[in-house]
Amino acid sequence: MPAQEFTVPYPARGSVLGAPELSALAELVGSSRTLSAGGCRAAFEQRFAKLVGSRHAVSTTSGTVALELAVKLLDLEVGDEVIATPQTYRATLDPLLDQPITVRFCDIDPLTLNAEPGSVESLVSGRTRAILLVHYGGLPADMDSIMRLARRHGITVIEDCAHALGSSYYGRRPGSLANLSCFSFHTSKNITTLGEGGMVTTDDDTWAERLERLRSNASDAEFRPRKQRIGDRAFASAWMLHPGNAYTHACTRLRHHGTNATLSEAAAAVGIVQLDRLDTLTAARRGIAERIGAVLRRFPFAVVPQEPEGVVSSHHLYTFSFKEGCGIDRDRFVEGMIARGVELQLRYFPLHLLPEWQARGHREGECPNAERMWFDRQVNLPCHPSLSDRQVTYLANSLEAQLVEAAAGRWAVV
Ligand SMILES: *Cc1c(COP(=O)(O)O)cnc(C)c1O
Repeated sequence: MPAQEFTVPYPARGSVLGAPELSALAELVGSSRTLSAGGCRAAFEQRFAKLVGSRHAVSTTSGTVALELAVKLLDLEVGDEVIATPQTYRATLDPLLDQPITVRFCDIDPLTLNAEPGSVESLVSGRTRAILLVHYGGLPADMDSIMRLARRHGITVIEDCAHALGSSYYGRRPGSLANLSCFSFHTSKNITTLGEGGMVTTDDDTWAERLERLRSNASDAEFRPRKQRIGDRAFASAWMLHPGNAYTHACTRLRHHGTNATLSEAAAAVGIVQLDRLDTLTAARRGIAERIGAVLRRFPFAVVPQEPEGVVSSHHLYTFSFKEGCGIDRDRFVEGMIARGVELQLRYFPLHLLPEWQARGHREGECPNAERMWFDRQVNLPCHPSLSDRQVTYLANSLEAQLVEAAAGRWAVV
């Protein structure tokens, strides 16, 4: 069967990059500056830290790597416990699969799909070291409750902000709401650094230094200078004693080996321009969300996403759900939308039910809200700035027609 051509595709098609990004690239390539670990990266990181309100921003090659490095900083030990949301992209939790720990999956609030603070609290034990959560679809999680709880128990919180650049939370921004914050600049995200890129932000000076080492092939370790001789070789010259020449220094405490996660200068140059356009790109997503919301609000069986007063979502995703027990068959609704040429994908399969996590003893029934939402109730609609006005109109009209059909119970026989 040939792949269906959708009138409204779910993933962004085509690039949101334009003339300003191209001219930043031309300027860089035409210069004699380095293409790796140079001034563009430093400038991008500084601007980013300032924007989100954190002391440090350390860029990486992807959001996945940002999360891997952030988890390394936790120095988890055998028997430690981490509380994690099951409703996020798998990259949020994949780094935990390498750790000698127990993961406790909290449940989610069915209205927001974010980690539910009461559920998180019920899982705290004397061994809890960290909480990993996401701002689902760009709507910030209940960070006041979660950070209060974490501070009370001395727990580190990592926020996955891959959806939440452009969001705000009572005057602050994701990226400064937790102890460590991770971003993605993948082509589908709210800004992109030429397709791939990531960032970790933190207020902690020591963590920032360790991140700097981890992403640039250095060891995350403590060192002291060696004696100036090894065997009969003397280190006579000053350049040999430079700390960059690791053999002149002895490692006293090795935590982790590093990797090369250098964001290229080309990517960073584009990132700087994209930051200038963040408000426009966010407004485009929010404009689409507004038009979809206007349709949904006419149907009492649809649960429409809401922003609490003082909280702004970037609308990286647009997710609504059918009211519990309203009798509408979600799967048939989705099939109807697809038949109309609107591509729908469900974001995200509850992670505790992935084979990797089931192999670690996790089972159906562990997170009832997350399971009910994904299996029965939630719908994710296309919502990205590469949709044309015509496509958004087509989406809104198809949605309305399909909801009318659902309300009448007139399902096409398949
Ligand atoms: C995209 C995404 C990631 C991973 O980012 P990459 O840059 O694609 O590696 C992590 N978490 C969430 C929630 C994401 O949406």
